[in-house]
Amino acid sequence: MTNYITTKWDIVIAGGGPAGFFAAIRCAELNPKLRVLIIEKSSQTLGKVLISGGGRCNVTHACFDPAQLVTYYPRGGTELRGAFTRFQPADMVKWFEAHSVKLKTESDGRMFPVTDESATIANCLRETAKNAGVKVHTGTTLLKVEKSPKGGFRLEVRQARVEPSVALSLSKGRNDSEVLPLQTKKLLIATGSDSKTRELVKALGHSIEEPVPSLFTFNVKDKRIDGLAGVAVEHVRVKMDTITQQGPLLITHWGLSGPAVLKLSAWGARILFDKKYRSSLTVNWLGDYKLDSVLEILQRNKDWHENAHKKIATQPAFSQIPVRLWKQLTQFIGDKNWGDISKAELRKLAQELTAGEFMILGKGIFKEEFVTCGGVKLSEVDFKTMQSHVVDDLFFAGEVLDIDGLTGGFNFQSSWTTGWLAGNALGN
Ligand SMILES: Cc1cc2nc3c(=O)[nH]c(=O)nc-3n(C[C@H](O)[C@H](O)[C@H](O)COP(=O)(O)OP(=O)(O)OC[C@H]3O[C@@H](n4cnc5c(N)ncnc54)[C@H](O)[C@@H]3O)c2cc1C
Repeated sequence: MTNYITTKWDIVIAGGGPAGFFAAIRCAELNPKLRVLIIEKSSQTLGKVLISGGGRCNVTHACFDPAQLVTYYPRGGTELRGAFTRFQPADMVKWFEAHSVKLKTESDGRMFPVTDESATIANCLRETAKNAGVKVHTGTTLLKVEKSPKGGFRLEVRQARVEPSVALSLSKGRNDSEVLPLQTKKLLIATGSDSKTRELVKALGHSIEEPVPSLFTFNVKDKRIDGLAGVAVEHVRVKMDTITQQGPLLITHWGLSGPAVLKLSAWGARILFDKKYRSSLTVNWLGDYKLDSVLEILQRNKDWHENAHKKIATQPAFSQIPVRLWKQLTQFIGDKNWGDISKAELRKLAQELTAGEFMILGKGIFKEEFVTCGGVKLSEVDFKTMQSHVVDDLFFAGEVLDIDGLTGGFNFQSSWTTGWLAGNALGN
C-alpha cells in the first residue's frame, strides 16, 4: 500500500468544501511552486455544493453593493464589510465566467448556473484545482494539530487504507484506516460546521461561539391556521422578542414558514435557542398597516350600505388576506353580517390583523438550506487575510467561522469571499 501523504507540504487545507477549494485554487494559481494539499474526510469533495439549492446550487446573490450585502448576514456582517470590497458576488460571477460557467439571476436575486445543475459548479472547481496542481485526498480526516517547534504544524490524519479513487469499491464491508503524521508550513481550516474540528481549534487557543441552528421554520399549533397548509400571504411583519422581520409568509402542516419566518429564525437564532424554541410571536398579516388605519378601513366596511347584510367571514376587508385565512381569523366574531359587528369586535379584529399573538412551540426543518450559526470567534481572525490572531500560520475560511447568511446564496458567497482572501494571503 502506498503512503500518499506523509510528505511535507507548504499548505494543507482541511475540508474539501467550497471555502477550501476556492482558497486552494487561488493560492495555487498565484504561486504555482507551492505544494498545496486538500484533505477531505468524506469519500467525495464538495458534497454540500452537490445537494445545494435543491440540486441547482444557488451560488451567490445578485447584490453587488457591499454595504447592502452585509445586511443579509445575521452574524458576520460587520467583519465581511471590508472583505466584500475585496471579493464580492460580481467577482464571483466574473470568476465563473472566466472558467466557462455562466450564471443566471432569478427574479428574487438568487443566482444559479444556467445548466440548473450543481454538478456544473462542483466539476468546475475540481477541474480548476486539478489544473492548478492542487492535490486532493478524500477519505482523509484531520485528527490532531500541533504547532511544530521550528514553525509550521505537525498534523495527524486518519486515512482510508486504500487509494481514495478506489476506496469506495474496495472498502465495502471493511473499515480499514490508518493514522498518519503530516507536516505543513501553513494550515487552513475550512471544515464547515464539523464539531470535532471545532474542538481541535479550541485546543489551539481559539474561542468558539457555540453552534446553534439558524434558518428554520416555526412549529405553531393554533386553530386560526389549522388546515391551511399551503396558504401564503405576500407581505407580513413578524416579531419575536426584540426582532422584527417582514416578507412573504407560508402556512405549513406544522406551523409557519416562508421568507419572513426564516429571516426571523436567523436573526433570532440565539434568542430562540436560549428560549428552547418556545416564544410568543406577533404577526401583522397586513405588513406595514397600523392598528388605527386598519380600524378605519374596517369601520368603512361596516358603514358601507352594500355590506350590511353580507357575512364578515366571506367578505374580506383586505384583498391581500386569502379568504380561507380571513375566515379563520374572524371566527371569533361568529356568523355575523358586517352591519351587525360591534365597536369592540371591530377593534379586536383590527388587533388580530395587525398584532395576532401566536406561540412558537418548537423548531422545524428548512430542507432547502440547513445552516448553523456559531464557530470561530470573528475578533480572533484578520479579515484581510483570514489569518488567526492567536496562532501563527493558521487560517480559517467558510462556515467554520461564526458567520451565517440568510437563504438566497449568501452562505456560499461568504465561503467564496473568505476562501479567496485566505488563498490570496497563502499564495502571497
Ligand atoms: C441541503 C443544503 C443546501 C444548501 N444550499 C445552499 C445554497 O443553495 N446556497 C447557499 O449559499 N448555501 C447553501 N447551503 C449552505 C452551504 O452549503 C454552506 O454554507 C457551505 O457549504 C459552507 O462551505 P464550507 O466550505 O465552509 O463548508 P462545507 O461545505 O461544509 O465543507 C467542509 C468540508 O470539510 C469536511 N470536513 C469536516 N471535518 C473534517 C476533518 N476533520 N478533516 C477533513 N475534512 C473535514 C467536510 O466533510 C466537508 O466536505 C446549503 C446547505 C445545505 C445543508
